[in-house]
Amino acid sequence: MKNKTAHCSFCGRKKDEALMLISGLEGHICEMCADQAHKIVEQELGMKGEGKEDFLKATDDFKVKLSKPSEIKEYLDQYVIGQDSAKKVMSVAVYNHYKRILNAGKTADVELEKSNILMVGETGTGKTLLARSLAKFLNVPFCIADATVLTEAGYVGEDVESILARLLQVANYNPAAAERGIIYLDEVDKISRKGDNPSITRDVSGEGVQQGLLKILEGTVAHIAPEGGRKHPDQKYVKIDTSNILFICGGAFDGIEKIISRRIQSRAVGFKNGERTEVAKEDVLKHISPADLKKFGLIPEIIGRLPIITSLEPLDKTALKRILTEPKNALIRQYEKLFELEGVNLKVEDGVIDFIVEQAHENQLGARGLRGICESILLDYMYESPLKKGQKNLTITEADAKAKWEANKKVHKAA
Ligand code: ADP
Repeated sequence: MKNKTAHCSFCGRKKDEALMLISGLEGHICEMCADQAHKIVEQELGMKGEGKEDFLKATDDFKVKLSKPSEIKEYLDQYVIGQDSAKKVMSVAVYNHYKRILNAGKTADVELEKSNILMVGETGTGKTLLARSLAKFLNVPFCIADATVLTEAGYVGEDVESILARLLQVANYNPAAAERGIIYLDEVDKISRKGDNPSITRDVSGEGVQQGLLKILEGTVAHIAPEGGRKHPDQKYVKIDTSNILFICGGAFDGIEKIISRRIQSRAVGFKNGERTEVAKEDVLKHISPADLKKFGLIPEIIGRLPIITSLEPLDKTALKRILTEPKNALIRQYEKLFELEGVNLKVEDGVIDFIVEQAHENQLGARGLRGICESILLDYMYESPLKKGQKNLTITEADAKAKWEANKKVHKAA
C-alpha cells in the first residue's frame, strides 16, 4: 500500500511514471534525478578539485592546441582555397586570443581584451568553412548560430541561451571548455538598421537586436540548463561566462562596396588633383573600414567589439575549379571515395569539372552551388552503381554530365 504512493523525492514523479525508483531511508529517487545528480557531482568535483585550468587539462577532449600563426595558416591552406589575407588575419587573431587565455593565470594583473572577428564576403566564399576549420585545428568547441534569431528579449534572451546550450553540448557539458569555444555568428549584416541615421529611418528594431548581441560579445554570465530546454526540479544550472568565447561574425553586407568606393574615391579625388583612381569592384572590399560598417547600419558599440575586420574575395572560375579538386575533402575526392566504397573506380573527366564550374559561376552562389550540381550529375550513377555487380570502372564524360544536367533541369522545371 505504502509503495503505491511512493514518489521521487526530488521531482515528485510517481512510481508508475518512473522507470525506476530507488528507495532511501526517508525517501526515493527516480532514474532521471539519479542521473542528473551524478552529472552534478561530476561537474562539481571537476571544477573544485583542481581549478578550471587543470580540469581542462585533465580532460583530453578539449585541450587547446595552440600553434604559431604560420602553422594555423598552413592548416587552413589544406581546406580553404584562396582567401590568403583572411586566413592570415584570422590565424594571428586566433593565436593572440588563445595565447591570452592560456596565460591568464600567470598574468592576472593584465585585463584581457577579447578580439572578436568580423568577416565580410559574399555567400559561399568560405566564411563558415574558415571558422569551422579554425575551431577544428585548435580543438575547441564550435557552434554556428544565425544572428537573425537573436531577439530583443532584453538582457540575455532565450535565443542566446539556446546558442550557449548548444556550445555546452558540443563541449561534452564541460563549461570550462565551452567558455573557451568559438561561436560563428552568421548574417550579422541582417540585423543592421537601415542607414546610419536612426532619426530618419526609425528602424529601431535592428538596433535593439544589436544591443542584445552587444551583451554577449562584451561578456555576460548566462545560466544554462545543461540538457537544453528540459527543466527539471533541482536541476543545477550551469553558468557560462561568454567573456572568453571567441565570436566570429560573418555577413555578405550587400551594397557595402558602394559605401566603400564612395569613401575611397572622394579621398582619391582630394589627394590626386581631381584624378580619379578606380578600384576594381572585387578589390573594393579589401578597403573596408569601421566607418563603412557604421554607414551600413551597425551601431558603433558593436563595431568596437569587432576590432578585427577581414574580407573574403568573390571566387572566380579558377578558384571554383581548385575547390572542386584540391582541398583534402574536395567534393570530387568525396565522390571518388563514395564510389570506391562500392568497389568502383570513378573517373571524372576534366571537361566535366569545367562544366560544373561554369554552371556554378553562372548561378552566383559561390562554392555553395558546386555540390548541388555534382549531385544532379551523379545522382543516376549513384542510384545504379550498387545494382551493377562487378562494375570496376566508371568514367563520366563531358557529354554525360551535360545530358544529366539538362535532364534534371527539365525535371525541376516540370515540378
Ligand atoms: P559562406 O559561409 O561564406 O557562405 P561556406 O563556408 O558555408 O560559405 O561555403 C559553402 C561551401 O563551399 C562549403 O561546402 C565550403 O566547403 C565550400 N567553400 C566555400 N569557399 C571555399 C574556399 N575558399 N575553399 C574551399 N571550399 C570553399
